[in-house]
Amino acid sequence: MPESYDVVVIGGGPGGYVCAIRAAQLGLRTACVERRATLGGTCLNIGCIPSKALLQSIEGVKLDLKRMMARKDDVVGANVKGVEFLFKKNKVDWLKGSGRVAGPGKVEVDGVAYDAKHIVIATGSESLTLPGVEVDEHSIVTSTGALELDQVPRHLAVIGGGYIGLELGSVWKRLGAEVTVIEYLDRLVPGMDAEIAKTFERVLGKQGIKFRLGTKVTGARKGNEGVTLTVEPSKGGPAEEILADVVLVSIGRRAYTDGLGLAEAGVALDDRGRVVVDAHYGTSVPGIHAIGDVIAGPMLAHKAEEEGVALAERMAGQAGHVNYDVIPGVVYTWPEVASIGRTEDDLKKQGVSYKVGKFPFTANGRARAMGTTDGFVKILADTATDRILGAHIIGPDAGGLIAELATAMEFGASSEDVARTCHAHPSLSEAVKEAALAVEGRALHI
Ligand SMILES: Cc1cc2nc3c(=O)[nH]c(=O)nc-3n(C[C@H](O)[C@H](O)[C@H](O)COP(=O)(O)OP(=O)(O)OC[C@H]3O[C@@H](n4cnc5c(N)ncnc54)[C@H](O)[C@@H]3O)c2cc1C
Repeated sequence: MPESYDVVVIGGGPGGYVCAIRAAQLGLRTACVERRATLGGTCLNIGCIPSKALLQSIEGVKLDLKRMMARKDDVVGANVKGVEFLFKKNKVDWLKGSGRVAGPGKVEVDGVAYDAKHIVIATGSESLTLPGVEVDEHSIVTSTGALELDQVPRHLAVIGGGYIGLELGSVWKRLGAEVTVIEYLDRLVPGMDAEIAKTFERVLGKQGIKFRLGTKVTGARKGNEGVTLTVEPSKGGPAEEILADVVLVSIGRRAYTDGLGLAEAGVALDDRGRVVVDAHYGTSVPGIHAIGDVIAGPMLAHKAEEEGVALAERMAGQAGHVNYDVIPGVVYTWPEVASIGRTEDDLKKQGVSYKVGKFPFTANGRARAMGTTDGFVKILADTATDRILGAHIIGPDAGGLIAELATAMEFGASSEDVARTCHAHPSLSEAVKEAALAVEGRALHI
């Protein structure tokens, strides 16, 4: 008889491991299949954590790249060990190996069969590649290779102006590389507020990062001198060449479902290869669910975690739920960029009438004391009800500041609610309060 579980989660990233822990907390007999040697998925091993470890190592130190990489590996090691500890604490079995769905209620891990009342697909995503630009993880790298370079490139060309390219571009720029970001669109961080994106481009430009916007890469040629990229205007025009010693391809990620046996099991995928789910993370096959990067929505660790918890609670007979209107997105450059809810472009498209409150960090005492005054807080509120519909920040600790607005939005707050809340002085959070005051044109410190 195969061993039997209430829940088998395939994938031990933030979606999968959180789902497994929550399911076990709720009394379900749970296992999590992970084939990597360590738990934590893309996020802990080759994503959020190592990239932030490198971003955090840099300020004001004399470069010792080997030590910096060793520190990054230590940070990753402590985090992935932490997940292993949490599995033991919560009695989640780690089934080491590659999992596949062998039919409803059946999972196979490296040939060993298990029965599962519920199967959860949490296999995440992998980097997209670009035709004509062949990744070797040495001179043409994805984010994984960019976290492992053994020397600082003289010139790093980053293809893609999204958050991963900008964060890793920032790491290597700070270490002395010349960095050129090549972006197909005529703006950075697509999907984020357009005014923030403009300021972001200016601030990163001041730091020396070069931008080639509205430009597409059509090919790459490796030679003794490095990699020669052929580029041309996105709208068409004469081609030119850019020589770089390392090229980072960061044009997005795709859902990863290879070798899972989903087609045979009858699990439907959409036209982008993502697992199709209903509002409760059920796939087209009863008893098989999916969460995280492998389904539609922002590819973010905290989104995957929220889905993991909601699904575990539903599997335990409770009412789990994710509020997709309130999912923050943060770019961990310096200054940081953070965004939540709808942008002005979204609201215009949806015909929603809104008010804008803005406050610059140049007028915030704490930011001035810190010597980091680039950026501003912007709050968008409904004209009729004053309910906060979106908030966008570029500036020091934007990623921390956005949490207040996430809580406010989760509670359905108005801009006046935030404006009338006492904020400590002198703190960066006063810029949030002032932006909320500015929605009604009554900011005090500008
Ligand atoms: C460089 C970089 C920086 C990032 N920074 C951030 C950030 O700052 N903030 C943020 O929110 N997000 C960030 N992300 C995105 C974040 O890492 C993902 O959104 C998140 O990891 C998705 O979680 P997941 O559980 O869906 O999948 P994953 O973390 O991808 O985990 C899936 C796991 O499933 C395993 N697996 C796959 N198939 C099988 C199989 N058949 N059998 C067994 N195991 C299998 C894989 O080995 C993997 O460990 C970053 C990503 C990258 C690449």
